Amino acid sequence: MRLAVLDRIAAAARDAGRAPGDVTLVAVSKQQPDERIDAMLAAGQRVFGENRVQEALQRWSGRRAGVELRLIGPLQTNKAPEAVALFDVIETIDREKLARALAGEMARTGRSPRLYVQVNTGEEPQKAGVAPGEADAFIARCRDLGLAPEGLMCIPPDSAPPEDHFALLARIAARNGLSKLSMGMSADYETAVRLGATSVRVGSALFGGRTPR
Ligand SMILES: *Cc1c(COP(=O)(O)O)cnc(C)c1O
Repeated sequence: MRLAVLDRIAAAARDAGRAPGDVTLVAVSKQQPDERIDAMLAAGQRVFGENRVQEALQRWSGRRAGVELRLIGPLQTNKAPEAVALFDVIETIDREKLARALAGEMARTGRSPRLYVQVNTGEEPQKAGVAPGEADAFIARCRDLGLAPEGLMCIPPDSAPPEDHFALLARIAARNGLSKLSMGMSADYETAVRLGATSVRVGSALFGGRTPR
């Protein structure tokens, strides 16, 4: 399944006049059994996404070498130290309190995970992320705090076609001088690549269905 997904990413990139190598496949391993993780590692996959700090710690503590681990789920401020210690990339900065906690922990430890700001492009109340209208100010605030976000992340509404959301995220990134876009999941990663995704977060299309917790 991994090669099929990589082929589709490459085809979508070429369609859009982009180099396939410009798009990173993030394998979303949350709620997947260990056998599937180990098979994915054996197949050569090295970049993984998790949405919970505790679950990621359990799954990855013994498998961390050579792996790039990304946090793609909401982060509580009190878990900032564990997140900074564990993850190479934190994609879900969405409020000042969290930005401050991360800045403090990064200064204290000297670790510097790469950072993304999450934008709630659909302005859905149940979803994390800054509102699109507040994104420019929030990115500036992060920079004031000494953080250097490299990109933006979004999870479009389930109910609507994702194109407008991906395009909106790309516009916000461009006007803020951010080069990375984390967007697209199993159902829409090819669309996301056509609209500029530099990483896609694919779970079920790669591993098969998840076992609910
Ligand atoms: C679970 C999850 C994914 C992967 O979802 P699939 O539809 O299984 O590909 C991607 N991004 C985030 C933030 C997730 O929580």
